[in-house]
Amino acid sequence: KNEVNIISGALELRKKTVADVMTHIDDAFMLSLEAVLDFETVSEIMNSGYSRIPVFDGDRKNIVTLLYIKDLAFVDTDDNTPLKTLCEFYQNPVHFVFEDYTLDIMFNQFKEGTIGHIAFVHRVNNEGDGDPFYETVGLVTLEDVIEELIQAEIVDE
Ligand code: ADP
Repeated sequence: KNEVNIISGALELRKKTVADVMTHIDDAFMLSLEAVLDFETVSEIMNSGYSRIPVFDGDRKNIVTLLYIKDLAFVDTDDNTPLKTLCEFYQNPVHFVFEDYTLDIMFNQFKEGTIGHIAFVHRVNNEGDGDPFYETVGLVTLEDVIEELIQAEIVDE
């Protein structure tokens, strides 16, 4: 039964797109670049349970870098370190993919390791009178793709 699920899941990857499985940007746990790493903020990060936190500058759709939980290892909350200082130190890159990428392509990208295991999702917004622009609409991780592959939810620790 498991094997059948995985085989049909593998075939389904070519039909589903990133937009079908991504976490919407409004539902993402993120931090503002202006945040201060005091006790309250670090507790919030820990309680979120996520290992990678997108960092935005000004607007939530303007994601500039990522904070990894492990980057907090040497942070003393009594120092009230600005998040910006940590971000400038680590400079973790962010990668973007388009919402209409199919999941087989997404899976290969994650597998190759060039974009890490999380990517942000772009859509071309050509509504309105202005020029079309890239709009950030969500995030997708390797786990989202693997769940489609095995056709089951992965229960987090
Ligand atoms: P983690 O290692 O942080 O648990 P996973 O890669 O295992 O993250 O992803 C688990 C689920 O959580 C996926 O559906 C993914 O889209 C979502 N996710 C990952 N990071 C965040 C975040 N910062 N905010 C909201 N959802 C997230």
